Amino acid sequence: MCTHLGGAAAAQARQAQCTAACASVRNSSDQLRVVGRKEKLKKGGDPSMNTAGIPRDARIVIVGAGAAGLCTAWYLKLAGFRRVQVLERSPRLGGKCRSLTVDGQSFDLGANYITSAYTRVRELAAHVGAGMYTEKAGHTINVKTGEMRSILAEVLSRTSFFTLAWQSLRFLFIRWRIRGLLSPARPGFGHVRDCPELKGSFADWLRRHRLDGLSEMFEIPLTLMGYGDLDDIAAAYALTYMSPKTFLNLGMFAANVPLRRWPKRFTQGYGRMFERLAAEVDVLTGVKIEKITRDGQIRVEYRLLEQQLEQDITVRETATFDYLVLACPQLPEVLEFLDLREKEKKLFGQVVVNPFFVTTYMAPGTERVAAVTFSLPEPALGEPHVVTRQYPESNFISIYSRGDHANKICREKIEANNRRFLGEIAAQEHDAAPLNSDDWAYFPHVPCAAVDAGFYSELEAMQGENRTFYCGGLLAFELVECIAEYSHHLVQTHFAART
Ligand SMILES: Cc1cc2nc3c(=O)[nH]c(=O)nc-3n(C[C@H](O)[C@H](O)[C@H](O)COP(=O)(O)OP(=O)(O)OC[C@H]3O[C@@H](n4cnc5c(N)ncnc54)[C@H](O)[C@@H]3O)c2cc1C
Repeated sequence: MCTHLGGAAAAQARQAQCTAACASVRNSSDQLRVVGRKEKLKKGGDPSMNTAGIPRDARIVIVGAGAAGLCTAWYLKLAGFRRVQVLERSPRLGGKCRSLTVDGQSFDLGANYITSAYTRVRELAAHVGAGMYTEKAGHTINVKTGEMRSILAEVLSRTSFFTLAWQSLRFLFIRWRIRGLLSPARPGFGHVRDCPELKGSFADWLRRHRLDGLSEMFEIPLTLMGYGDLDDIAAAYALTYMSPKTFLNLGMFAANVPLRRWPKRFTQGYGRMFERLAAEVDVLTGVKIEKITRDGQIRVEYRLLEQQLEQDITVRETATFDYLVLACPQLPEVLEFLDLREKEKKLFGQVVVNPFFVTTYMAPGTERVAAVTFSLPEPALGEPHVVTRQYPESNFISIYSRGDHANKICREKIEANNRRFLGEIAAQEHDAAPLNSDDWAYFPHVPCAAVDAGFYSELEAMQGENRTFYCGGLLAFELVECIAEYSHHLVQTHFAART
């Protein structure tokens, strides 16, 4: 069986590389070295980062068929691994990349946008032949007055044009200068502890760089999209999201610049794109994992629904693998099937998610809602904060709301708020029941203090220990491109010497 560097040695190697990467942003010649690294990764692996050389006939089990699980399975397949099994709890594929077809049109209930910064996702889309179209203009609505505005007009009502223009240029320059520290050059956050530039909250980072005039603008993609208040979200997360390209794409979207090309959506939905990718790897759906033990080998006990002549019954199966990849949210309650070690308990016990509800309706009378409409001023938890009407000719709309299970801001309260909101928009009572309601465990992350204290270097050092690997939103940031890039990096670094 294969050998790989122990956690401590791997951590040391990574620490050294990270320190080099951090130092590299201090002068431009070193920056070139970081960019050069990125090229190497893209071409097929950075041997210096390689902790393994796992045989191509190793049996690998991946738990979760969301973006992370499917991308990892796909990159393993590209790297020549042929005995990879994905186990998915739900009957559906794609996890938070979920699409629903209504009257022949595809609607996204989870992930929806692709920007020009998305290279891995676009590669996958090209491979499976998933077409895209440019998203229509976004707007904001003031629910109290019913006034609709362009996003730019809304931002300019709070910030002067000069401040917005000057600070946007400065943001682009500063973000470009630190590009070597952030995904895709270095997916994940294992190096953050050693990079003062990335420490603290995003609000602190903006203040440090005298960019706080942009705070209200950043609240739209960050706070309203469920990632939390700028004071709570770690700078490393927000800056990973706000790459120069994404910033420009979203800026042009906000200003509705004519002939802009981004952001885009998949014509048949994000979910369908991943369903097509899933057809190329080996996935079992509807699997209830009961127990995974890791003692030399990975032994998985699970139940599967089996159709028999008279009835469907669940049958128990056991399978043995050489390696385990956890591509499901790494929350203790999700991993209850696993013999968690103390280190894992300590780290995963710190992970939090933001409950994020997406509720859909057929809502005649709401024609003035734009493709995507942000509700402002910033609504309280449980109130609608984004409404999407993907196709102007269809009354199918979805409403995003941030929940709070601890304070009982759950489905019932959210649906009551939605009814009131729809009534206000349509100027008539709205009593239609929701068609569909998802309560996503959104944005698995840790608080700023944990990021600064080295949560991620400990987590990265654990990769491969006990034949176990981790990927997904917690490791990479809750965006499909970051997750795909991380899965690619995981395969390159820990499994394949070269693809
Ligand atoms: C409303 C919304 C809008 C979004 N918009 C965008 C966007 O515009 N652009 C973008 O890039 N991203 C967007 N995202 C984020 C994106 O959807 C997620 O980052 C990504 O889909 C997460 O993928 P994942 O594989 O890490 O996790 P998940 O999608 O959560 O997948 C985890 C999988 O593991 C399975 N699982 C869990 N427990 C078990 C178990 N015990 N056994 C087996 N399987 C299990 C789950 O069923 C699931 O299929 C959005 C998300 C939401 C909710």
